[in-house]
Order: sequence, then C-alpha cells, then structure tokens
Amino acid sequence: MPRGNIKEYWSRYRSVPIVYRIGAAFVLGSILGLVVGEPATVLEPLGELFVQLLSMIVIPIIVFTLLMGIRRISPSTLGKVGGQILALYAILSGIAVFIGLAVANLINPGRGLTLQEDTEFDTEEAPDFLDVVMGIVPEEPIGAMAEGDVLATIFFVIVFGMALLLLAENSDDEAVQSGVESIFNIVEAGTEAMFKIVWGVMEYGVIGVFALMAAVFGEAGAGALVPFALLIGALLAAVLIHITVIYLGGLILLLTRESPIAFLTGSKDAIITALSIRSSSGTLPVTMANADNNLKINEGIYGFSLPLGATINMDGTAMYQGVAAIFAANLVGVQLTLAEQVTVVLIAVLASIGSAGVPGTGLIMLTMVLTQLGLPLAVVGFVAGVDPILDRLRTMTNVTGDLAVTTVVAHWNDGIDFTSGSWADPTHGLEIGGESTPGDD
Ligand code: ASP
Repeated sequence: MPRGNIKEYWSRYRSVPIVYRIGAAFVLGSILGLVVGEPATVLEPLGELFVQLLSMIVIPIIVFTLLMGIRRISPSTLGKVGGQILALYAILSGIAVFIGLAVANLINPGRGLTLQEDTEFDTEEAPDFLDVVMGIVPEEPIGAMAEGDVLATIFFVIVFGMALLLLAENSDDEAVQSGVESIFNIVEAGTEAMFKIVWGVMEYGVIGVFALMAAVFGEAGAGALVPFALLIGALLAAVLIHITVIYLGGLILLLTRESPIAFLTGSKDAIITALSIRSSSGTLPVTMANADNNLKINEGIYGFSLPLGATINMDGTAMYQGVAAIFAANLVGVQLTLAEQVTVVLIAVLASIGSAGVPGTGLIMLTMVLTQLGLPLAVVGFVAGVDPILDRLRTMTNVTGDLAVTTVVAHWNDGIDFTSGSWADPTHGLEIGGESTPGDD
C-alpha cells in the first residue's frame, strides 16, 4: 500500500473519537470471544498491558493534580469540600444498597437454581475500620506511593501542599519563595504531561479493550451466563435506576440544574474505560482527564474527590451486595428479614469504604455479607464465573458516581465552569480522545 494511503487511513482512523473506537473494540472483542471461545484467551496479555499502562500513571497523576489543586483552593475550602464529598458518598452508597435490595426483591434472582456445594471459596477478612483510618497516615510516604496506597498518598500530598502554601505566604526568604513557585510550576507542567500520557494510553486502549473482552467472553462463553441471567438482569436494572434517577435526575438535574446529557458526554471516556477494565483505581487517570477537560472542574476539587472516590465510594459494589444477598438467600430457599436486609446496607456501606477499587473487590465483600447473614460461602464460588461481567456494571456505576458527586460539590463551591467544555457543547471532547484539536481552544 502506498505510504500516502496509509497516512490517510491513519488520520481518518484517528479522526473518529476515541470513545467510539474503544466502544467498537468492546463489541468486536466480545463477539470474537463468543465465536472463538477458549483460544481467544491468548489475547489476554494485550489487555493486561492496557490495564498496566493506566495503573502506571495513577499515583503520579494524583500527586500532580492534587498539588495543583491545593495551589488554587484555600485550606478552609478544602475542609468544607471534603466534608460535603464524604457526606454525599456515604448517603449515595446507602441509597444504592436500598435500590439493589428493592430490585432484587422484585426480580428474585436465584429462584429455580440450586447451589452446587462443591464450588468452595475462601473467606476474606474484612478490612478493619480502625486499620483503614490509621493507614491513612503513611509511615513512609514514598513507600506508600510505591505501593499505590491512594489514601496515604492523598494525605501526604495535602500536608506537603499546605506546607508549601504556608511558606509562600510567610517566608521572607526569596530563595524559598521562588523555590515554592518553581515546584508549583513543575507540577503544572507535570499535570499536563500526565494528561498527554492518558490520551496516548487510550489510543492503545482500542487494542487493549478488544483483547480484554475477547479473553473474558472466550473464557466464560455465552452458555455459562444463562443460569445467571436473572442475577445479571437484576444488577443491570438496579444500576440503570441508580444512574438515571439518582445521579442524572437527582444530582445533575435537580442539584446543579444542568443537562444530564452534557454530564454523560463529558464522562464517556471514564465510563467506557471502567466497563472495560473493571477497576475504578485503574480508570482514575481517565476519570480525572474527563473532569478536567470535559466537565471543566477545578483541580482543587477533583484532584481530591476523585482519588478519594475511587477508593472509598463504590455505589455499584455496595448495591451488588444487596442483589447478591437476595440471590444467595433464594439459592438456599430462605427469606431475608427486614432486619437482615438493613444489616446488608450497613455492612455494604462500611465495607465499600475500606476496600480498594480493583477488580473483584465486590466478590470479596460478598464473603463478609454472607458470613454476617449466615448464608453459605459457596455462593461466592458459584457466582465467581460471572463476576467479570457483574464487576463491569459495578465499576461503571462507581466511576459515574465519583464524577456526579464531584460535579455537584464543585457546583456548590464555585469550582466548575458550566459555560464551557461539554456543558456548552455536547460534542466537546469528541475530538482526538477528548484533547482539543490544534487551534481549537
Ligand atoms: N471493580 C470495582 C471497582 O474497581 C470494585 C468491585 O469489585 O465492585 O470499582
């Protein structure tokens, strides 16, 4: 093929918004997996590479954007914003579990199925709440970053950022003043560089997502999903209700009075990445890029609320506990009392705070819920095969929730520009994966 043609095809390919290319890869990869079956799993390493590339930038992007944000937001605002974010995260997770329980009580997933007792699963220990709180203060900040410990990293960066601000205000040493200025300038450049990397990684994401989907369906096969159709259907219904009624209707339309469509178009890259890689932490760089570039939220707010959300806010995961508890009860033919269902809400909300947003967290949490309810742990082994599908729905909800709460809190604190980005132009961010095309700005 002549070089000119290749170049033309390439630029035509690149002119298709990244979210559509990744969406097509998602569908084509799934079809390939279903058609080819087991052999499609050889593609898995190509998918894992995508996940690894995203994980590579999680900690640097948190450090840079949070420091940038601290430069732009006063400490008192940060405290106020923090309180609002935590309150909304907790309230919404509670609502999510209620919706999950209500939908599952209606649909009754698990009826007609019997539990295969041989599918054993080990119990995982619930993270101790006190340990989680103590763990927020890192013994060793570089170690915390190296281990990808998000909460400890946030803590250290906030303390460091505040110290820099105090120096800028109080020091009369010029060398210190200009040093602080230089650090912030480096951080500014670093943030931009990170976002460049995000979009570069997303270009590879087309291959990565294709491979991930081919591998997951190649392994599970459509037939394996049939017995779980009601469980998948119940979670899907609950997730859709939560996203449309609570996030789009309640948070975006009622509280900010802005367009839910604009919110969704602004968040689309993060949503499709979450669906593809089933990790809120891994999706974080893309979630931040959407908050910055499309939703036009101030770094001071999203730099803090999104990493926090990826770790402690998991509405989809909490909601799944409700659905799965009813599923488990139906499998063994018992009825959960109202008190038991309230217990599910409490454990689900608390456990989602202490567990990280990585693939399969929801399944680990389920062992805690089942233990508490006295239901057989074999249920966890039984549903483990479909978890790669269920986890996608949970993660997509988790990430959408982080962005919706961040949008509302940014609105309450004058930290969002509703006159630009996808709010002003719903097609914004559809150029080269959310990056402005040259001369566009
Ligand atoms: N994979 C989910 C997340 O990263 C957690 C879960 O398993 O529900 O948000």
